[in-house]
Amino acid sequence: MTIHYRTAEEIEKIRAANRIVAAALDRLEEIVKPGITTVELDREAEALIRDMGGRPSFKGYRGFPNALCVAVNDQVVHGIPGKQALKAGDIIGLDVGVEKEGYYGDAARTVPVGETSQEAIKLMEVTMESLMKGIAEIRPGARVSDISHAIQSHVESHGYSVVTAYVGHGIGSSPHEEPQVPNFGRKGRGPILREGMVLAIEPMVNIGGPDVTLMKDGWTVRTSDGSLSAHFEHSVAVVRGGGDVLSVGSKNVKKLS
Ligand code: MG
Repeated sequence: MTIHYRTAEEIEKIRAANRIVAAALDRLEEIVKPGITTVELDREAEALIRDMGGRPSFKGYRGFPNALCVAVNDQVVHGIPGKQALKAGDIIGLDVGVEKEGYYGDAARTVPVGETSQEAIKLMEVTMESLMKGIAEIRPGARVSDISHAIQSHVESHGYSVVTAYVGHGIGSSPHEEPQVPNFGRKGRGPILREGMVLAIEPMVNIGGPDVTLMKDGWTVRTSDGSLSAHFEHSVAVVRGGGDVLSVGSKNVKKLS
């Protein structure tokens, strides 16, 4: 397996796919409310992705049936959309992947359904912050585990656990590439970050312990102790000045580090 170093032109193609991802997540965030079903969210995401000239890359990937991966409450990642309606107080992880002209985008957010507990809001905030702290470590010459360590340190300083069974990854001309990007570990390990690398960084954070269990559907991952879990993800290019977050909308272009 090799790490790819993308040209500026390729990074723009990966950005184009990621802008569709961001637009789909923005739309889903607007329509999430008590009573809506996750399969309705999936249909909306797929229609928007196709309208924007993308292909939902999760659909058919190793047999996954939908465009959208969902994760409600104690689900961690990879839930299959279904007919069950969301309830006020739930939290839902929304994970979207898009392919456009041979290049891939991938991002995720966890959002509240109506009014949620302070505990759930805090979990989502800390998980999002841990992603941003990981991204802030990105610069040419740093190491992959500098990102990992920043994420884990922030999460554990709040008494939460990072999931270790699933990790982030390179992304570009396929949806999952080298290197792996764990959400835990000591600094100064793993591949050196170099200009042109593109990483999907995705902390999964549990209020309780780190252990997870795969459900009988072969996809849905839950916390083993039933505690709430949150997941945030951005696709980020390593550029001269640091990390260029690709999975933001065109109205909302900003460098976050
Ligand atoms: Mg991913």
